[in-house]
Amino acid sequence: MGFWYFLGDFSGLFYLLAIGIMIWSLIVRGRLNSLIRKYSEIPAASGKDANTCVNEMLRANEVYGVTIDHIPGDLTDNFNPKAEVINLSDTCYGKNSIAAIAIAAHECGHACQAYSGMVLFKIRQAIAPAASITSRISVWIAIIGVAVMYAASSAEFSNIGYVISTLGIVLYSVVFLFYLVTLPIERNASRRGLAAMKEFGWVSDNQLKAAKKVLWAAGDTYAIALASSALTLLRLLLMRGRRRR
Ligand SMILES: [Zn+2]
Repeated sequence: MGFWYFLGDFSGLFYLLAIGIMIWSLIVRGRLNSLIRKYSEIPAASGKDANTCVNEMLRANEVYGVTIDHIPGDLTDNFNPKAEVINLSDTCYGKNSIAAIAIAAHECGHACQAYSGMVLFKIRQAIAPAASITSRISVWIAIIGVAVMYAASSAEFSNIGYVISTLGIVLYSVVFLFYLVTLPIERNASRRGLAAMKEFGWVSDNQLKAAKKVLWAAGDTYAIALASSALTLLRLLLMRGRRRR
C-alpha cells in the first residue's frame, strides 16, 4: 500500500501533475545552466565588474552599510539581510561577464528591497525560520494523522487522527506561504537589477536581453518550487479528506 493509495480516484491526476512539474524543472534547470555558461563567457560592454556595479547600485538607492563578500562555489550568491552582506560566488565576484553582473544586480535588488521596507520581503523574513522547521516535519505529521484515521476503530480515535493531520496541513501551509511570497520577491529583485543595468549602461541593449533571459530562468525555479508546494498541500488535503462521522 503506497503513499498514493489514500488519494483514491485522484492519484492518476496527481502522478501526472508531479511528472509535469519534474519535466518542467528539468527543462528550466537545463536552460538556466546553458544560459549561465554562455553568458559567463561574454564580458559586459561597459567593462565593469560585478562588484563595481553593485556599489554603484547601492549608492544610487541610498543603501549604506551593505558590504560585498566572496562566497565559495558557483551560483551560491545571496543577500544576507542580518549581516547586511551581499555574498557573491566564484561566478560573479570580481567578474565582468553579463551573467555575473545580472546575478549581482539581482542580489543587490534584494538589499534594496530590505532597505526600502518592502512588505513582502518583511513577511518572508518573518516566516523563514518557521518555514524551515515545518518543511521538515509537517508532511510527516499529516501522514501520521491520516494513518491514525484509517487505523481507528472508533469515531473518537479517528477524530484524533483528523486533528493531527489538520495540524500537519496547517504547518505545511507556512511552507506554501513562504514559496508564495518568494516568487514575487524574486521577480521584483530581477526587475530592480535589470532596471539598474539599463539605467547605468553596464551592458549593451542586446546584452540586457540576455541578462533578462538569465534572471527570468533563475526566477522560474521559484515558480517550480511554488507549484510543487501547492501540489503537496493539495495532496495532503485530499489525503486527509473529511472528518469521519
Ligand atoms: Zn533572489
